[in-house]
Amino acid sequence: MTVFSTESFADHEQVVFISDDRVGLRAIIAVHSTKLGPALGGCRMYPYADEASALRDVLRLSRGMTFKAAAAGLGLGGGKSVILGDPRKSKTPDLLRAMGVAVNRLGGRYITAEDVGTTVDDFAWVRQSTRHVVGLPEALGGTGDPSPTTALGVYHGIVAGVAHRLGRDLRGLTVAVQGLGNVGWSLCRLLAEAGAHLVVCDIDPVLAGKAAAEFGAKIVEPDAIYAVHAEVFAPCAMGAVVNDKTLPRMRFRVIAGGANNQLARDEHGRQLREREILYAPDFVINAGGLIRVASEHEGFNRAKVDSQVEGIGATLRRIFELADREGTPTQSAAMRLVQERLGGSSKPGGTATSTGNTNERPLAERVA
Ligand code: NAD
Repeated sequence: MTVFSTESFADHEQVVFISDDRVGLRAIIAVHSTKLGPALGGCRMYPYADEASALRDVLRLSRGMTFKAAAAGLGLGGGKSVILGDPRKSKTPDLLRAMGVAVNRLGGRYITAEDVGTTVDDFAWVRQSTRHVVGLPEALGGTGDPSPTTALGVYHGIVAGVAHRLGRDLRGLTVAVQGLGNVGWSLCRLLAEAGAHLVVCDIDPVLAGKAAAEFGAKIVEPDAIYAVHAEVFAPCAMGAVVNDKTLPRMRFRVIAGGANNQLARDEHGRQLREREILYAPDFVINAGGLIRVASEHEGFNRAKVDSQVEGIGATLRRIFELADREGTPTQSAAMRLVQERLGGSSKPGGTATSTGNTNERPLAERVA
């Protein structure tokens, strides 16, 4: 396995390999950048096919966190960690405590949180070995589930996108929401309160039925969502939903949702621009949860967090204007903003879609 020549190694400051046979822990912590502050990013536990896949995943995700934190204007860098193993079989309190010891050895350069395969409650064990943890349960002084705050940021992003592309507010227009989980559900509530009509889908028909009852939403089959007549498409399920098959079917004016890695490939960003579909880059619009958990470090203040999250709308407006001025895809404009905030000396490498794994499964990152 190669490390330094791995494409995603990019300009990582530090990569730590951890092995503790006593508790069956094999993990990697990647610190991409501490230029703007300590590197914050979730800890993912996943039964990777091999070590190279785990390394690739952690490197790509940690670099993505640098971009996400910089775009959100946070005094944080980007990092990530992965534990190699099946969370259903091998996740024990001892293993989690040992992970905490590894995090603690970095002395605060890396701050961990929940992610795919780990839960808020798991971090009560991690917390026993280190204080460099955020996203803790409320009972432990944390901020609990970040999803409603992620949804709030997405809502502000939709408002900004609709104002930019259509010059109006949400009342009376139609939003197609894909995925009615933690983020999608809270988003539906905000949209319904703003007077938008909803068309929704979820692979779980019970959730779809509940959305129809609660928000008067129209239900469509999961594959039909790409072709519905709606001004806005809000992907809130899995990644790579804008791809060669779905894009030709889309008639939306704005795509703005909470899912990570919405574009299957960078060129889909260019195609969206050509088709005059305004795309809100995912790593900008879905940073609400990160803003919330990050606030734990300095003491959670809801009013301050909500105002920072509202700033996602202002950041997107800047990105949309820059993209229009330069005739570039919005994710390229977002990367320009990130480079500006990083002082231009970092080498962010890839583009906005490099925030993680494009094969991301639905139960994807909470924080990242
Ligand atoms: P979740 O697992 O709670 O919800 C996902 C929902 O999507 C589920 O209800 C699932 O049944 C549904 N779904 C899965 N495949 C589908 C398909 N093909 N069509 C329609 N519905 C489908 O996850 P979540 O926490 O709501 O996160 C949603 C997305 O937002 C993920 O991509 C996640 O990475 C991203 N994200 C979440 C947060 C957060 O704070 N929760 C933060 C940043 C990014």
